[in-house]
Amino acid sequence: MPKLSIRNLDLRGKRIFMRVDFNVPLAPGGKEITSDKRIRASLPTIKYALEQGAQLVLASHLGRPKGKPNPEMSLKPVAARLQELLGQPVVMAPDCIGPEVDQLKAGNHPVVLLENLRFHPEEEKNDAEFARALAAGCDYYVNDAFGTAHRAHASTVGITKHVAKSAAGLLMEKELDYLGRVTNNPPRPCIGILGGAKVSDKIEVIENLLKFVDQLMIGGAMAYTFLRAQGRPTGKSLVEEDKIDLAKSLLEKSSKLKLPVDHVVTAELKEGAPYEEVETIPETMIGVDIGPKTREIYAAAIATAKSIIWNGPMGVFEKPPFDRGTVAIAKAVADSGALSVVGGGDSEKAVKAAGVADKISHISTGGGASLEYLSGIELPGVAALSDN
Ligand code: AMP
Repeated sequence: MPKLSIRNLDLRGKRIFMRVDFNVPLAPGGKEITSDKRIRASLPTIKYALEQGAQLVLASHLGRPKGKPNPEMSLKPVAARLQELLGQPVVMAPDCIGPEVDQLKAGNHPVVLLENLRFHPEEEKNDAEFARALAAGCDYYVNDAFGTAHRAHASTVGITKHVAKSAAGLLMEKELDYLGRVTNNPPRPCIGILGGAKVSDKIEVIENLLKFVDQLMIGGAMAYTFLRAQGRPTGKSLVEEDKIDLAKSLLEKSSKLKLPVDHVVTAELKEGAPYEEVETIPETMIGVDIGPKTREIYAAAIATAKSIIWNGPMGVFEKPPFDRGTVAIAKAVADSGALSVVGGGDSEKAVKAAGVADKISHISTGGGASLEYLSGIELPGVAALSDN
């Protein structure tokens, strides 16, 4: 790793400011956590630091409080859950900066959880004074919040200027390790699979992946903009008219781009709607999934892969039976035995729905951050960490 890891730090007797991603879903009212997956994801780093004799000041954002305190987005329920999971006291701070918080930090508490960072507008503005106040009293900084590493905020970037050393937590390290392995001289053949709604969201990803993958298979609605660029009919499918020229130039530049050869089409986009499988999309129909031949062609290519990067569903997978293309790809990726990295919330849902999540080498915890990484951009929250 080019960046320092928490494993490179001598933590004994040190106070660590640890940025975690405790942005958990809450039931209406904000009192009850509906999934503690994100808390569990950082447990190994938290436990490791405690075992090494560090004192922890944990911080996270939760929801979008827009720079104002909002009791419905308090981290209090997270403190309670974390306490259960750790089996030791977690002290909940009334805020994330200020004299009261400084006192708690200086007290004899092994774990202090700060209140929602985004209760202060200075967090997202990467305000220097706010960053200094966050770091007050802390020796080192550890970032385990991969999901916010693409944002240059006070708790992800600014704070690193006010501590002696800044390192990646174990979860962050794992994310960077897997993403690095599939993008930096990956085992070949390396296959990219991109789907989802829009070409415009993933232009930089397409351009960057084309630099190093051996094949890039396109599915989802973004395929129709490419088909239109080839002059093929797309009926009423989602097409980004203003991206057709760009799609054309990408197709001209690279023979690695693979497009669906058949499609599942429907007259009405709703669950259980009647559908047809066609090679040419009729004028009145909407393309909602890759067709059976495409599934076969893509799966055959995937079976030969030694590394795979997948982001975005192959169709409107939330509405069965239009999930079959996505499920087929999930199974093919799982069966390939290749080094596989899946990013983004939808692709994760798809591999779970297909029951193959445990056969994927790595499912990224950060949708936006993993897309930015795949665009070839250095994430600001990673760039800010100390060099190894
Ligand atoms: P993204 O967030 O860009 O990965 O896009 C995910 C969304 O793309 C999902 O909600 C899918 O339902 C949607 N999607 C995938 N294929 C299609 C399609 N053929 N038509 C409309 N939406 C689609």
